[in-house]
Amino acid sequence: ATPDFPRKLVLLGSTGSIGQSALRVVEQHPELFSILALAGGRNVKRLAEQAIQFRPPLLALLNAEDAPRLQDRLPADYTPEILTGSPAYVALARLEEAQMVLSAIVGAAGFAPTLAAARAGKAIALANKESLVLGGHLIREACHRTGALILPVDSEHNALFQALAGHGGEHSQPYRLILTASGGPFRGRSREDLHQVTREQALNHPNWSMGAKISIDSSTLMNKGLEVIEACQLYGVPAEQVDVVVHPQSIVHSLVEYDDGSQLAHLGLPDMQVPIAHCLCYPRRVTLGLKRLNLAECAKLTFEAPDLTAFPCLRLAKEAFAAGPSHPVVLNAANEVAVDLFLNGKIRYLAIPEMIENALAAHSGTTVDTPEAILQLDKETRQALIQS
Ligand code: NAD
Ligand code: MG
Repeated sequence: ATPDFPRKLVLLGSTGSIGQSALRVVEQHPELFSILALAGGRNVKRLAEQAIQFRPPLLALLNAEDAPRLQDRLPADYTPEILTGSPAYVALARLEEAQMVLSAIVGAAGFAPTLAAARAGKAIALANKESLVLGGHLIREACHRTGALILPVDSEHNALFQALAGHGGEHSQPYRLILTASGGPFRGRSREDLHQVTREQALNHPNWSMGAKISIDSSTLMNKGLEVIEACQLYGVPAEQVDVVVHPQSIVHSLVEYDDGSQLAHLGLPDMQVPIAHCLCYPRRVTLGLKRLNLAECAKLTFEAPDLTAFPCLRLAKEAFAAGPSHPVVLNAANEVAVDLFLNGKIRYLAIPEMIENALAAHSGTTVDTPEAILQLDKETRQALIQS
């Protein structure tokens, strides 16, 4: 069941790219929402601005030392409770009054709060794909038990969700899921061409403006690899049933193919407000002050196969998912470490897939049937990589 309106929302990662787009949606339809909590990470200034505009009773940020600076920026007549540290996000995710949680923290840090929201039976607008990569099996099990509903914010999975609606049942299972990929800023380049690419070039995504980590992931195709796993976890299909096609215009957001060969696609101009609004307002459709798609204007939509030699991360992600539930944890941790090192100028671009491949090669599989085991493996993988 979906919550009534106005919906009591908790926005985790409100200061990020997804969080800000979510607030643009809320701003346009204030009567549909009541914001209980805004949770940012380290960006005190932006969180303060958002808090002053939306006035939620609860705020959260990562470092306790930053709380006084946040407090100082707020007007005297507004005194929200300020929570800090990782436990704050978990507490907010399962807050009694909350009906819907936007999970838009970046990286493995989003796993514990997402699982907490699932265990508490919330409607979850899920942007944090890493949480499904780490523990999709636990999140699915929790949703099944509590009736928590996952609404996928990721544009491809939102497209799949819409193309799957009204289908299902034993006679209309999807035959395959087809994820589209923009190809990122380095589409068409050979592996040799990628030796010299810089941080700025890698961050310069052609169609979407996003956080730094997912921008790098898009350039290596790891983002698509994580999304294949995300699709498998959301829709209960094996990786062989998920295909990827490169579509540089980012107009077709993904497709579902049925047994009879019919393919249903979702189209639209690329703006994350569209899938975010679909989730936050589901099943209601709302207007957004955005340009609408005019196919005659786009004129040309092109498609091509991904180049797995230049961009091995997509293959690594598929192999990790097939290898067992602990391998994606290692894949994700190694990717986060490598991307961080690359963003800080410590390693070259092609060392990203190398580090991930080496970490996976060194991993022989372990049981990850509790969140503690997952987070322990995540930590050990990071430590091993940072030491070497
Ligand atoms: P971002 O870097 O712009 O924002 C991340 C948010 O998380 C910020 O609010 C930041 O303060 C917070 N944060 C960072 N580290 C944290 C930590 N350790 N604990 C608590 N909070 C922390 O990232 P983004 O682009 O908004 O992406 C967020 C998530 O959504 C990612 O999982 C990404 O894969 C997914 N996603 C993003 C897009 C997009 O268009 N940006 C599209 C699809 C999916
Ligand atoms: Mg996506």
